[in-house]
Amino acid sequence: MPIRFFNTYSREVEELEPRDPAARPIRIYTCGPTVYSRAHIGNFRAYIFEDLLQRHLELRGYKVHRVMNITDVDDKTIRGAREAGIPLGKFTAQFKEAFFEDGQMLRIKRADEFPAATDQRYIDRMIEMIGALISRGLAYQADDKSVYYRINRFPNYGKLAHFDLTQLQSTGRVKHDEYDKEHIGDFALWKAWDEEDGDVKWDSPWGPGRPGWHIECSAMATALLGDQIDIHCGGVDNIFPHHEAEIAQSEGVTGKKFVRYWLHCAHLLVDGQKMSKSLGNFYTLPNLLEKGYTGREIRYALMRVHYRAPLNFTLEGMEESRQSLARIDEWLQRLREVAEKENLQPASAVDGLRRGERSTPNPPPPWTGSAVANAQRPTQKFEEALDDDLNISAALGFLFETIRETNRAMDENDLDAASAGAWLDWWKRINTVLDLEMEAEIVVPPEVAQLAKERENARREKNWKRSDELRDEISALGWEVRDTKDGQKLTRRGAA
Ligand code: AMP
Ligand code: ZN
Repeated sequence: MPIRFFNTYSREVEELEPRDPAARPIRIYTCGPTVYSRAHIGNFRAYIFEDLLQRHLELRGYKVHRVMNITDVDDKTIRGAREAGIPLGKFTAQFKEAFFEDGQMLRIKRADEFPAATDQRYIDRMIEMIGALISRGLAYQADDKSVYYRINRFPNYGKLAHFDLTQLQSTGRVKHDEYDKEHIGDFALWKAWDEEDGDVKWDSPWGPGRPGWHIECSAMATALLGDQIDIHCGGVDNIFPHHEAEIAQSEGVTGKKFVRYWLHCAHLLVDGQKMSKSLGNFYTLPNLLEKGYTGREIRYALMRVHYRAPLNFTLEGMEESRQSLARIDEWLQRLREVAEKENLQPASAVDGLRRGERSTPNPPPPWTGSAVANAQRPTQKFEEALDDDLNISAALGFLFETIRETNRAMDENDLDAASAGAWLDWWKRINTVLDLEMEAEIVVPPEVAQLAKERENARREKNWKRSDELRDEISALGWEVRDTKDGQKLTRRGAA
C-alpha cells in the first residue's frame, strides 16, 4: 500500500509519489526553534512528529535528507541578549546547546543539517532573494527603509492557509505597518536597523538591517535542498503567515512549485489551550526530568497520539506512558527468556541464538506460529498504519494487541523459542521507528560516583557553591547530575 499524507495545501490525503526509493533522497525541511529560551515540550511534539516521519520513510526504504533551521536572530533573541547584556551570539548559543541536549534525550534523530539564520552564507542568499523579488515587482522598500513583500502581486497568496486576503486585519503588533506598507498583510523581508537592534545588523543594498523570519527559511531551504523540496513540516501555527510567506518568496524567486507535501502537526495543549511561552502553561524537558520522568517516557507521551489530533498534556498521561513502556519492557524480557530456553530447542540452535543467529536460516513469520495464528498479521498492520498518514495510535494499538496475544501464548507455554526470536526481530524492526527500548543498565565510573558522593555531602552541609562546582566537574566527565526527591540521579549527558 502506498504511503499517504494529509497535505495542508490541498486539504486532501495524497499518495507519496511512488518512485525508486533509493534513487534520490526525500528532501524534508522542518522549521526549527527560535533560540531565545529553552524550547518547551510543545515544540518537541512537532520535532517528534518529524522524527517519526523520517524514521518511517527510512523503514520503508527511502533515503531522507532533512534540514532543520535555527532561528538565531529576531525580535525576541535581540531583546533577550540586550536584557542579559551579552552579545547575541553568546545569548543564543546556550539555547542552541540546550535544544540539542533535549533532542538527544528525547532520542530525536539529528537532521542532516542545522543552518543558522545568522550565517553569512545564508544572509547573502536572503539578500539575493530579496533583490530578485524587488526586480520582479514582488517587493518594495517602504519609507521606513524596510523591504516588504507585495502580497497582492502573488496570485496564490493565501492558498496554503485557505485564506481570503480581504480578511486580513492588522494585529497591531507590526511596527509602523499602517504608515509604510501598501497592504496590511505585506510582510517584512528586510527590517531596517533601529536603535533597539544595537550592534545586530548586516549591510544590504537597502541599508543596514536584518532579515525577516520568513525569508530566512526560504533562503536556507532552497540553498540546501534546491528550488523544489518534497516535504515541509511544522506546527499548525506555522501555516499562516510563516509558511504562506515561504511559498510566496520561494516561488516568487524560482517560478517553480516550492513544496510537494505540506505536513503540519496539531498542538500540544494544556487544559484545552496551546502550550506556549506566552501563556506560561509550559513544561520544559528539564522540568519533567526533575519530576522523575525519563526522556523515553516523555518521547512516548508526545508520540502516542496521531500528529493531526490535538494532544492534551497531563501528568496522568505521563503515568500512562510509563505504564505502557513497562508493559513493553516486561514483554521483551519474557520473549528473551523464551527465546533462550534450551529445552525447547536443540542445543545447536540455542547456541546459534546466543550468537545472534536464528534457529533456522529463514524462520517462519511470527504470525504463522500456532499460538498467534489468529493475531491478524500485526507486523504488516503496524507499518501499514504508519503508511496511512503516520497513524501512530493505530500502530501502537497493534503493538499492544500483539503483546496481549503473545503474552497469552507464553502463559500457556505455547510459544517456542524460534517464534519468540522472530517476535524480537519484529520488535527490532519497528523499534527503528519507535526508539523506545530501555537502555542497558548504566554503569557509573568510580571517579564520577566519588564526585557525586562529595556533592551529596556538600548539599547536606548546604554548601551550594561547592555543590555547583562538583556538578561542573561531573559534567566535564560527560555526566549529568539531577536532584530529585529520591536524591541525586546520574545520567550520561544526552542519554535517557
Ligand atoms: P517556535 O520556536 O515558536 O517557532 O516553534 C517551533 C516549532 O514548535 C514550530 O514548528 C511550532 O509550530 C511548534 N510548536 C510551538 N508550540 C507548540 C505546541 N504547543 N504544540 C505543538 N507544536 C508547537
Ligand atoms: Zn520556517
